Amino acid sequence: MTTILETKDLTFKYPDGTEALKGINFKLEEGTMVALLGHNGAGKSTFFLHFNGINEATSGSVEIEGKPLKYDKKSLLEARQKIGIVFQNPDDQLFAPTVLEDVAFGPMNMGLPEDEVRQRALDALEKVGMSHVANKAPHHLSGGQKKRVAIAGILAMKPKVMVLDEPTSGLDPNGASSIMQLLYDLNAEGMTIMISTHDVDLVPLYSDNLHVIVGGQIIKSGTCKDIFSDPEVMEEADLRLPWIGQLFEKFDKEDGIVFEEGYPLTVGDAHDALLKRITK
Ligand code: ADP
Repeated sequence: MTTILETKDLTFKYPDGTEALKGINFKLEEGTMVALLGHNGAGKSTFFLHFNGINEATSGSVEIEGKPLKYDKKSLLEARQKIGIVFQNPDDQLFAPTVLEDVAFGPMNMGLPEDEVRQRALDALEKVGMSHVANKAPHHLSGGQKKRVAIAGILAMKPKVMVLDEPTSGLDPNGASSIMQLLYDLNAEGMTIMISTHDVDLVPLYSDNLHVIVGGQIIKSGTCKDIFSDPEVMEEADLRLPWIGQLFEKFDKEDGIVFEEGYPLTVGDAHDALLKRITK
């Protein structure tokens, strides 16, 4: 595997003295879909904003494709073409009079010819299923549509990595699953994706590559099974099992019915485990 982004002993202190990141060593491998799981205030957004130099490390370093990130204008522009960040609140990202102009902003800033800028914006809108709102004002869109347009704005720059800060926040359950499906499809096409979330029910459906952050430190990295079967991590990070896992925990603790695979974490795994038991 090729490491596309790495942080070494990364620390960050806000001007008011808050130590938001406390020495994070992290590697993002090309082609993966990874989730950063942690409660509000754990440091997820602060961490992400280091990936393309929006925040500058207080100490330690960020490396993109093996090269330390520099903070001059040219290096930052390059970094932002490679690593695109979709903010949690699309209103922080969308500002142009129309959706099309908004999505075109990134490629335009890259200095591409006008034709290519337009084509990239149109393609990106099509990819996220938002071609039909190209001429609308971004602030007239629904929450889910805004998220899709914000994603299109990043896609139009054709980054290698797309980082999304809580991509499902504020969406209804259908909107959340359809955004996650879109990210899953983009990853299947080869894009490296990293999301932050505190949604333990959603994570096992889309990513088996998890990092748990607490108080500005990554306390464990592993598969969903590794994380959700580690009581110390669950307690330290104040996580609960996904609902479906809780059902199987109840079978175990209250009825002595134990499934050898451990607690299933998705409906699909629960179905398989039950079917195996019933047909045994
Ligand atoms: P998360 O994204 O996991 O909710 P954040 O990265 O937003 O966490 O916050 C991490 C810590 O940094 C929290 O203690 C938060 O209060 C603090 N913090 C975030 N933004 C600022 C800021 N602009 N100034 C001072 N402290 C901040």
